[in-house]
Amino acid sequence: MSGSVRVAVIGSGPSGLYAADELSKHDAVSVDVLDRLPCPYGLLRYGVAPDHLKMKSLEITLRKILERPGVRFLGGVELGSGVTGITVDELRECYDAVVYATGSSVDRRLSIPGEDLPGSFSATEFVSWYCGHPDARVDAFTLDARSAVVVGVGNVAVDVARILAKTAQDLHVTDMPDHVLNVLEASAISDIYIVGRRGPAQAKFTSKELRELGELASADVVVDPAELVLDEASKEVVETNKTVRRNLETLQEWSSRPLFGRDRRIHLRFLLAPVAVLGTDRVEAVQCERNVLDGSGGVTGTGEKVTLAAQLLLRSVGYRGVPLPGVPFDERSGVIPHVSGRVQREGRTATGEYVVGWIKRGPTGVIGTNKGDAKETVEQLLADLETLPRAPRREPDAIIDKLAQRGVGVVTWAGWEAIDAAERALGAAVGRTRIKIADRAALLIAAAKTLAG
Ligand SMILES: Cc1cc2nc3c(=O)[nH]c(=O)nc-3n(C[C@H](O)[C@H](O)[C@H](O)COP(=O)(O)OP(=O)(O)OC[C@H]3O[C@@H](n4cnc5c(N)ncnc54)[C@H](O)[C@@H]3O)c2cc1C
Repeated sequence: MSGSVRVAVIGSGPSGLYAADELSKHDAVSVDVLDRLPCPYGLLRYGVAPDHLKMKSLEITLRKILERPGVRFLGGVELGSGVTGITVDELRECYDAVVYATGSSVDRRLSIPGEDLPGSFSATEFVSWYCGHPDARVDAFTLDARSAVVVGVGNVAVDVARILAKTAQDLHVTDMPDHVLNVLEASAISDIYIVGRRGPAQAKFTSKELRELGELASADVVVDPAELVLDEASKEVVETNKTVRRNLETLQEWSSRPLFGRDRRIHLRFLLAPVAVLGTDRVEAVQCERNVLDGSGGVTGTGEKVTLAAQLLLRSVGYRGVPLPGVPFDERSGVIPHVSGRVQREGRTATGEYVVGWIKRGPTGVIGTNKGDAKETVEQLLADLETLPRAPRREPDAIIDKLAQRGVGVVTWAGWEAIDAAERALGAAVGRTRIKIADRAALLIAAAKTLAG
């Protein structure tokens, strides 16, 4: 590292890398980007839908940040306890400032009876599995279900419904691991219900994502016109919000479109609040209460029950951050408390601690939102630069040496490049661009020749 101020960014997702980008514009600063995984890019690699190739190509831009002089990637290092973990105190020994960029990795729960029956999963579990996340069990999903209910009306719900609706052949262009494609190929699913408790004007889809459902060759989209009727508050939203207006037009068009007899059907259902998951040994149905719009943007229950037969339930009702050991955490909002990116400890600004991304502002916005967010935080850090106390251990490899003493090898940039090359080679052998390696041990073997420590 060349600079005289040493910064550790914890998390190599979009927000951490945008922070590294801003920091690396200053000669006086050198940055280590640490991640608990051997691979960089956070949810760009392990969340963004594999069939969204254009969005995935943002990796090319983020890669350039990690290739800059003065920026290093150190993978396989977790801020936390345990042998492979590094504590905040250890970080502060080696770095003048720390930027937390660990994202929001836990799904919110529905908190209804039956939620933990076999066959009920969080959207994150399904997304992690199809994205080849090393934490996901290879055999987590079998897809022997005939019907699936996806609870939630945002883009993640649309992503998981689309992946369930597509054929394995459609997904051959992606980097999905073979075990995932094999399960999707054998999938018995014919009906997928996307269920929201409020009306179409309150749904959070973006127009492009929603429209994509209607363009699938493998699935019809089914919408009940009765569920598109608006109250006064919804009409106002439709008038003032372009995205909502476009979405409503799309839904109205689908509600009057004939079915094309495709193999699968995606049903978009509104004003249904899941109240129980039914089943004895596994999910057999999702029981919902029908809601009505209350005229002021909310809904009220009618008491009428609607039961959707389904053997698979995927819950996509939002994310929250997880507390990091030794780092303040606001349990209510699920983020690290801060003022403009400066971490707050017991109501006071902590020296040399900053936060960016979803763990700063919660799980909102698109990837680009993290750029302005990171800029705000880095501006605070740069303003503090002169007054930051310098860390006692200043040799560049202090952290690597510390982990090596515990027998922990860090995956360096060269290690990631070796993984990248191995994945591309796996793909090239069968005419695909890349096949992801999902298994952590296999990732480490691929990186092994270049492990530091
Ligand atoms: C399923 C899904 C699909 C999405 N699709 C899109 C899309 O198509 N387009 C779009 O614009 N946005 C999309 N988003 C939103 C986008 O992914 C986020 O805006 C963005 O990833 C947030 O960046 P982040 O850096 O804050 O968090 P993350 O991307 O989650 O990165 C956090 C990083 O921190 C690491 N980490 C966590 N804990 C520790 C620890 N203790 N020690 C060390 N490292 C740690 C993680 O391994 C991870 O690499 C999607 C989100 C989800 C959930």
